[in-house]
Amino acid sequence: MKSLAATLLIALLAGCATAPGGIDKTYTAKGQASRVRFLVLHYTVADKPASIKILTQQQVSAHYLLTDDTSPTVYGLVDETRSAYHAGNSSWRGYTQLNNSSIGIEIVNAGWKDTPQGRVYAPFPQTQIDALIPLVKDIVARHGILPENVVGHSDIAPLRKQDPGPLFPWYQLAQAGLVVWPDANRVAAVRQVFDVQTPDAAWFQKKLASHGFALAQTGLFDQPTKTVIAAFQMKYRPANIAGEPDAETAAMLEVLTTPANAPLPPVPPAPIPEMRPVQPEQPAQPIQPLQPVQPQPTQPVQPQPVQPATPPAPPTPVPYTPPNTPPVA
Ligand SMILES: [Zn+2]
Repeated sequence: MKSLAATLLIALLAGCATAPGGIDKTYTAKGQASRVRFLVLHYTVADKPASIKILTQQQVSAHYLLTDDTSPTVYGLVDETRSAYHAGNSSWRGYTQLNNSSIGIEIVNAGWKDTPQGRVYAPFPQTQIDALIPLVKDIVARHGILPENVVGHSDIAPLRKQDPGPLFPWYQLAQAGLVVWPDANRVAAVRQVFDVQTPDAAWFQKKLASHGFALAQTGLFDQPTKTVIAAFQMKYRPANIAGEPDAETAAMLEVLTTPANAPLPPVPPAPIPEMRPVQPEQPAQPIQPLQPVQPQPTQPVQPQPVQPATPPAPPTPVPYTPPNTPPVA
């Protein structure tokens, strides 16, 4: 049988929810949200033991590490209420320094190596992706992270990072509703417009910035612009990640950055050709008035005296010699 004092104590404890530190948690505010706005995916460029060592003993870290075992393990290395050091200098949709506002997942993967046949990327086993998708689903649901804010390191730091690379199956995440993806029919329709005329550098820079990238608007296809185009292609068009501003890339950007019911874009203006110095127009030569033609006095034809024909020479007289006459001595 309980004493009266003990009964009173139990009643007191039940009546006021006192948290550690003496904070009374009786009331909860309606207006609040998670501090986490982004989810960032990485590859480790190291095997599992090296990845664990790097992410737990060095300054770099992530909230989760997903292994490449046949039956993958998800290690929780940093509590979600705290910052992990995985993003570095970064920017997305106007937000910067994303360590403070993101969850980071490191995926064990060898990254890439350069070979005589070109750059070769390490594939992601399907078992690893099958373990990743429920983890991402859980995180975005708890924090209310929007699909456009589920990104790769190469999205938020494109000039420094390529991870998770072109073999990462973003499309599978899109099918799970976790990332935004351009509708294929709209891309095909818009592409017909851009096949006529590929947009210029200023158009690409504006659209890439509108999609989320931090990119200087120089109006030129400079190296940073090509690198950012390549980062976009790694996610949405991995078959060709050369960073060339082609019609298909333009169509995907257009669809991703305009509302679903927007009309087709007009054919963009042709890029300005290289400027040639324009020759100033020559002033027209004043027309010389016609000179009146001076009539030349006609010379009267002088009648030529007709020379009388030369009379034939008179025949030479032949002296008569009488026949049989003795010569003259
Ligand atoms: Zn990374």
